[in-house]
Amino acid sequence: MIMRLDRLQAEIPPPTDPDPNGASIVQELLGGKFGEMSTFMNYTYQSFNFRNRNGARPFYDLVASIAAEEFGHIELVATAINTMLTGAGDAKAGKRGALKGLKDARNAQEWIAGGCSALVQDSQGKPWNGDYVNATGDLIGDLTWNFFLETGARNNKLKVYETVDHPAARALTGYLLVRGGVHQVAYARALENLTGARMEKLFPTPRIETAKIPECKPHIKRGEHLKLYRWSPDDFKELSAVFNGPHPETGEELEVAEELHPEGSVPNDLPAQEAVFAPGPDVGEIEEIARKLRAAAGLPESGKAKGKKAPRARAKKG
Ligand code: MN
Ligand code: MN
Repeated sequence: MIMRLDRLQAEIPPPTDPDPNGASIVQELLGGKFGEMSTFMNYTYQSFNFRNRNGARPFYDLVASIAAEEFGHIELVATAINTMLTGAGDAKAGKRGALKGLKDARNAQEWIAGGCSALVQDSQGKPWNGDYVNATGDLIGDLTWNFFLETGARNNKLKVYETVDHPAARALTGYLLVRGGVHQVAYARALENLTGARMEKLFPTPRIETAKIPECKPHIKRGEHLKLYRWSPDDFKELSAVFNGPHPETGEELEVAEELHPEGSVPNDLPAQEAVFAPGPDVGEIEEIARKLRAAAGLPESGKAKGKKAPRARAKKG
């Protein structure tokens, strides 16, 4: 089972100017063949289907731990998309022509099927599908596939970084490029330990100099390019038996983090988008109902998530 924290793995800046077309390009990193839905579901099903776990525990722990991290990556991509769509349909619900400004956006489902929000689709509007999952149960085959998947994912992330300059997209891709790099190394190291293959010869693939990308730098400085997390107080401890040794590009020592998960940040409270009924055409009414329910349940006034930092400012209206 999985425990959930109301925090994001990394900080995504608050909404600025809406960028619906940029958001639809970022969708490739969510529901594309090499997107976060794919990495999450591949490792999740491989861990569900893993046989003889006790006999092969370090490898099981590796796949299961990375699967847990990928859940939070989907959440991050969705957050970036929602941030970029905030304000795109900002008008009164039901007012004729209120959404006219969106007529030329590439993907109309962002506000027609969604509430100016993320969809389980790729950048061309194709739905994510289970055929992207390879969980054969053959450990060498599945680990090789995972290495390939992380390689493709980094390729796609860099291209999205270079296409979309919205600050939310840049913050997102900066973090994911660093974390995807660790996963790529982790699967390579697992294959080296299992077979003796010289996987380090394949690095860097693709040729991405993350150390020179401004949005990657703060994460590298914190050592996020070397660490894996266990996401569990007591389990998955054999991860350290397979994830160790020098990083193939930098020579620095790989490590299993002492902390169970990254500190991350409190998500921004993205404002209502009344014209698309998110969360409804009359936000005040829902707030009032929530306020009464909270009082009746003996809860404190504020509906804010707990955390070190207060939620950021709301989007500017425009
Ligand atoms: Mn990922
Ligand atoms: Mn990954």
